[in-house]
Amino acid sequence: MQVVFERGVYLPEIDLWLDSLRKKDTSLISHAHSDHTARHLRPVLTPNTLLLLSDYLKKSDPIPLSYHEPLDCGKYTLTLYPAGHCLGSAQSLIQSKSTGERVLYTGDIKVKPSPTNEPLEAVPCDTLILEATYGRPKYVFPDQDQVLSTACNTLKNWLSQGQKPVVQGWRLGKSQEVLYHLLSQGFDMVVDDGVYQIAQIYQQAGVKFPGELRVFDGQWPEGAVLLCPPGRGMTKAVNGFRGLKVMELTGWAVDGSRGWGRRGDASLPFSDHPDFNELVEYVRRVQPKEVYTVNGFPELAAHLRGLGYPAVHLDGRRGEIQDTGFQMKMM
Ligand SMILES: [Zn+2]
Repeated sequence: MQVVFERGVYLPEIDLWLDSLRKKDTSLISHAHSDHTARHLRPVLTPNTLLLLSDYLKKSDPIPLSYHEPLDCGKYTLTLYPAGHCLGSAQSLIQSKSTGERVLYTGDIKVKPSPTNEPLEAVPCDTLILEATYGRPKYVFPDQDQVLSTACNTLKNWLSQGQKPVVQGWRLGKSQEVLYHLLSQGFDMVVDDGVYQIAQIYQQAGVKFPGELRVFDGQWPEGAVLLCPPGRGMTKAVNGFRGLKVMELTGWAVDGSRGWGRRGDASLPFSDHPDFNELVEYVRRVQPKEVYTVNGFPELAAHLRGLGYPAVHLDGRRGEIQDTGFQMKMM
């Protein structure tokens, strides 16, 4: 199957867009992060992703598609499987009716277990289109429980010194996951309004947070931890408070790159993406005949070729195959 990556994934043989960033008549939306969405006329998405995007898509005519229910699209069927990355996140299996070929587009996945996301299912396929965000060998994350335990000990230490801890994580997905973990450890949490609104949607979808959800209203309750996305909103919210201590939770903390992992008082590698080894292991589990990697880095495709998988990195910035010293035509 021919695969094009240009502000989204496109399968020209069946005229199907996946996570197009430009408005289309029809496109799959794998999950509700803004780097995977546009206001398509008829987006296909899971019911939980639709809950998260209902305002954003209010002028659209969405096609909600539950996990495991094949949608008949003429030449092919489209079936969604849990991706484990955030509430509602889905991998897409496209199965040709004429040849039986199975093409899997992962979207963003998370392999490690999460108390708030539908758990990832490995989906065997012929052609794998894999998100490669941390597709470089140096991005290997420590055990997640260990990272969370370090985070809790650090927060307790800060609180015992009378300081005001701020935990940073992206508004959708990671924040709700971290909120769940910290509540379950008995922390008194106040959260940014956007994080709160999304947590409410998680509750509608059946997630039961193990503690009270409270919005940060500008008053800092004694002994509380503030959970807030990074950026200007946070800077404004915490302006004027003394004794702030900032904890960043991001995979980039592994090497302090991309502006992350440097500014916080503590930076811990907690991610909603797989690390390099988990990406490679996922490829082994789904046993594809060919692999396209998108986003991230070309090193993953090179590594997979070394393991015997025909693999190519598609560079979205130029919409073309990035040459890493290996030429191949994959159809
Ligand atoms: Zn995402």
